[in-house]
Amino acid sequence: MSCGRPHATPCTEIVALLSAYVDGEVGAQEYHLISVHITECPPCEQQEQAQRTVKALIVRAATATGAPGAPVSLHARIRAQLTLDGLAGSDSDPAQ
Ligand SMILES: [Zn+2]
Repeated sequence: MSCGRPHATPCTEIVALLSAYVDGEVGAQEYHLISVHITECPPCEQQEQAQRTVKALIVRAATATGAPGAPVSLHARIRAQLTLDGLAGSDSDPAQ
């Protein structure tokens, strides 16, 4: 897929990086290349929008279908673990 116009970066490279781009996992230089590209290349911009939509749906689905109660107990366990770690790190470290 291509809009037929020449780009500094080939569409195939842009599309390959879009998932990481949407996740904010690309470097500053790649981020810039993709940002410029999608402003001048409608097909790639559509791909970028689709990536964002899919990721938003995944997040919503994961939130909506989580077993009721599971997040709460998980939070409690994590908080308890953090508290234990905090105490061990500050009060009861014999090596210090
Ligand atoms: Zn493109």
